[in-house]
Amino acid sequence: MSQHHFTVASLLPSSEQIRQAIRPNVSQLPSLPVVAIKLLKLTRDDMSSTGDLVRLIETDPAITAKILRIVNSAAYGISQKIVSIKHAIVLLGFAVIRSLAMDVVLYDQMIHRRGHQSFNRVNFWQHCLTVATLCRSLAKRLDYPDSEEAYIAGLLHDIGKIITETYGRVTYSDFLGQVDNQEGLLIDIEQKLIGLSHNDIGAYVCQQWGLPENVVLALKLHHHRFAKLPLNMQQQQLIAMVSLADFISWLLGVGSVHIARNSILQPEVETLIPLKDINLQELIGAANDEIKDISEFYNFALPTPEQFKENLLLANIQLSRFNTNYYYLHGELQTKVKHLTQIKKSLEEVHRSLDPQEVLAMTMSSVRQDFGFDRVYFMGIESGQRSLKVLNVSVTERRTAMRGLEIKIRPESAIILECLRGRRPALIKESNLVEKEILSCFEVREMGMIPVVCHNTIIGVLGVDNAVSARPIDQDDLNTLTIITSELGLALENARRFHEIEALVYHDALTGIHNRAYLNKVLSESFRRASAKQINLAVGMVDVDFFKKFNDTYGHLHGDSVLKLLASTMKKFSRPTDHVGRYGGEEFMFILEEASAQEAYSFGERLRKEVEKLGQLLVKRFPERALTISLGVASFRPGMQSIGELIKKADEALYRAKGTGRNRTVSADWC
Ligand code: GH3
Ligand code: MG
Ligand code: MG
Repeated sequence: MSQHHFTVASLLPSSEQIRQAIRPNVSQLPSLPVVAIKLLKLTRDDMSSTGDLVRLIETDPAITAKILRIVNSAAYGISQKIVSIKHAIVLLGFAVIRSLAMDVVLYDQMIHRRGHQSFNRVNFWQHCLTVATLCRSLAKRLDYPDSEEAYIAGLLHDIGKIITETYGRVTYSDFLGQVDNQEGLLIDIEQKLIGLSHNDIGAYVCQQWGLPENVVLALKLHHHRFAKLPLNMQQQQLIAMVSLADFISWLLGVGSVHIARNSILQPEVETLIPLKDINLQELIGAANDEIKDISEFYNFALPTPEQFKENLLLANIQLSRFNTNYYYLHGELQTKVKHLTQIKKSLEEVHRSLDPQEVLAMTMSSVRQDFGFDRVYFMGIESGQRSLKVLNVSVTERRTAMRGLEIKIRPESAIILECLRGRRPALIKESNLVEKEILSCFEVREMGMIPVVCHNTIIGVLGVDNAVSARPIDQDDLNTLTIITSELGLALENARRFHEIEALVYHDALTGIHNRAYLNKVLSESFRRASAKQINLAVGMVDVDFFKKFNDTYGHLHGDSVLKLLASTMKKFSRPTDHVGRYGGEEFMFILEEASAQEAYSFGERLRKEVEKLGQLLVKRFPERALTISLGVASFRPGMQSIGELIKKADEALYRAKGTGRNRTVSADWC
């Protein structure tokens, strides 16, 4: 993307996508922002603006009264009584009063509504104010040129959620009711259930309202990576501030929705905001005081310091479960691995085993025998390459427990550094203190170390010694061993790649769950076990009802997203011993080990009802087709000759489910 061709609009959803997600057409969207937009358009550079601001606010007596109430509260610490908006602007400044008016307008017209929905508007408002306040403080600390712009971006960053709640075909409350059954990041689930994520909707609408481009960008990108986009420094900083403020707010327990899902902090944020230079405690403290004053006005309580601590702890637990890196690396990894599928066949032919543990064990045991060493061990390089740790051991006599022994790589360990850097074997004798320390730890007088290298990268070190016989180690043997370790390096790398490829071979590209190849593998293994040991086994065939019509009405892309939703629902419902997968097209299968006919039927019914519930939600977006599934289940019977027989029974049951009205489960065992 070149600088010339980049436009903010290119990042935003199309009006067609918006129509799919939001009920009225966009020109009928909330009237409120008319006042808000006018507020934003008033710049303080313009001398006439003060008069305009006064007029704009004073046309609405309710807003005027509220602003006067706030500025006269203890929060602003002004001793004289402020009697007019003009007076307030003189005392507190243009920007402050403009922001305050924004708060009041947004709150009055969007937040302050009754309702017992899952989407809690008060929490939401608290989150918006917290993020806005944190953004303003961050902006001041970073010398960002316009701290009020930062405030506005923070205040509006999640506006897509409230718009979805008010105008969405699937409301945000609807969404929250289903979100627990889905896996992944909130924005990805929004995309699946609502059709667009809150940042897309928010950015689109704000663009329509004519808000500043920087604000639109910050809304759009506050959950996304943006390093590769041609943005200027100010735009990048604004996104980073909103992301960080959102993240801190979540850590403090002031998230926009009360579900246990954290947001993601993009790596860009750390680059743009030097966290160590910012006194976070002071930042949070200041924001907290500011919000506390405002919160009295809005009549909500902020968490107490004790609650903050508890929230922080909970947030930490949550974070540890959720590896942020994983999300970002996953996509890249998948594309890399895809290229490797092509070489799978040659990998299989070249190697005897593709299990890294087996490769290691076989190699080490043959080295021990051919060279007559007492012990051979494989040491992995620990993170940061600061130590070597024994991971696998091959020994004649179990003299010492060696696993886990560790060698620290210190700057003064010249011989080890030479071995690692120069990729050369080393013979360690008791010639200096460092070496003595290592050898005493291994309880030997001599040790050979041979680097295991693949594509010029060290992946470990092979260690050899004669701990029992104390026979001297021959340097020539170590040199010969390098030929074997270079083969070992390749074999280990190949084994690792093979496992990545295998994972791909058994997964369906569209839905990410297991595919038919995997199901077939499991089926034949389970069938063998069931026949040999007379244990239960049940299978279920699942088929989407009238899916062709769905595709015809809404298009294949929406059809695909429904298949993805179904897949994640099935996965969510399965226990670790169950297997679920996509059998083909819009057919799915589950395999339940050690389950009776009754259990299989119940599982099928639970799944069916869950999909029916999901369908009730989706019908708001796709009104003509309620999503339902039909299921056929069958259980293993002694005497069955092949797995084909069992699948055929399930298939026939499914056919009956289709024939008797669909949206039902039929068991082959009861017919
Ligand atoms: P029934 O209730 O009898 O099962 O009706 P149906 O329309 O679901 O059944 P049919 O077998 O006639 O059609 C299956 C449709 O599933 C046809 C095809 O368009 C759709 N389909 C199959 N695979 C995919 C896919 O990967 N993506 C999408 N979007 N549609 C698919
Ligand atoms: Mg947020
Ligand atoms: Mg179908």
